[in-house]
Amino acid sequence: MLDCAIIGGGPAGLTAGLYATRGGLKNVTMFEMGLPGGQITQSSEIENYPGFFEHDKTGMDFMDTWQKQCFHFGLKHEMKKVERVSKTGEHFTVTLEGGEEIEAMTVIVCTGSVPKRAGFKGEEEYFGKGVSTCATCDGFFYKDKPVTVLGGGDTALEEAFYLSNICSDVYVVHRRDTFRAAPPTIERVKQKENIHFVFDSVIEEAVGNAMGLTGVDIKNIKTDEITHMENTGLFVFVGHNVRNEVLNDEEGGFICEVNDWGQVIVDLSMKTSVAGLFAAGDIRIEAPKQVVSAAGDGAVAALQVISYIQEQQ
Ligand code: FAD
Ligand code: NAP
Repeated sequence: MLDCAIIGGGPAGLTAGLYATRGGLKNVTMFEMGLPGGQITQSSEIENYPGFFEHDKTGMDFMDTWQKQCFHFGLKHEMKKVERVSKTGEHFTVTLEGGEEIEAMTVIVCTGSVPKRAGFKGEEEYFGKGVSTCATCDGFFYKDKPVTVLGGGDTALEEAFYLSNICSDVYVVHRRDTFRAAPPTIERVKQKENIHFVFDSVIEEAVGNAMGLTGVDIKNIKTDEITHMENTGLFVFVGHNVRNEVLNDEEGGFICEVNDWGQVIVDLSMKTSVAGLFAAGDIRIEAPKQVVSAAGDGAVAALQVISYIQEQQ
């Protein structure tokens, strides 16, 4: 029986693992279906994590040292997808892809979120063939070429900035005429001469052929005018979906309380409505969706797990 099963290996899960094992728990496994690191590994930069102020480092570089530190005190990693978490009596069963079942005294769910699709014609057809949600991964394919970015949040503008250093021109298409992103980010992007704003507009269609995307149709939603841009990559940054599937019960509901957007309801101790079940990071209500807060949540949840186990003994 595990003392604690941690599901998800982003900043919240890794930090929970560090605090749980350094706090004395011997049997802690983090189930992460891919390489540890989480969403931030897709980012071209991070400049708001205290103590880390290196502009030339990517999110991948940033998370590299986390793993060394977080595994140092005995945290184990299983590269497996978790299908479901259930509670029978006092303990939890963590069901892995393939059906294997693991028993655990406590569970911390840190499964984060995934990029949303915008829903325009051709988005799925050309996804991975010109339509991307990762500038760090795919920006280089458009070296010295124009690209289009869809969205007006922090991710869209930060990634537009990153792309502007590689690509000839970056067209930021946003459905309103004011951005959702933080003011300093907006100001920084405005300073770049090769970033152009296309306001009140959406992507009408991603256009291509058997080889992939060849261009995009951009529609002004106030005038209905459509402009075609040829030879452009398309980067979509329109938000994220909460990854709460592991908490589904057999009736299609959830084993713990969630809000209307599927975010897990926790208190300030990261406790869910189920004793012994904790949630940390982007999956929880009112998550600031920051690395620093996800890490803080993970630490809080792990300390609460240690107290919970002591109370049970
Ligand atoms: P995540 O990082 O989403 O990690 C969740 C992990 O769980 C993933 O690795 C996933 O593979 C795993 N997982 C999910 N489901 C399962 C399952 N069923 N079984 C096993 N594993 C599973 N924040 C900042 O503070 N500063 C920034 O500059 C910044 N830039 C960003 C740039 C981009 C492009 C993006 C996308 C995000 C950025 N953020 C930034 C936000 C930040 O990355 C997130 O807030 C943070 O990563 C959330 O951490 P988390 O651990 O809660 O979840
Ligand atoms: P977000 O803040 O939800 O922004 C999504 C953007 O996409 C919005 O501008 C939205 O327009 C637009 N949009 C949504 N659906 C669309 C559609 N179907 N078609 C066209 N446009 C659409 O998402 P995010 O930028 O990914 O950020 C997610 C969270 O991570 C945020 O809390 C953010 O602060 C955080 N984050 C922080 C940093 C940082 O601190 N440096 C960096 C990245 C992300 P509207 O504005 O009109 O709704």
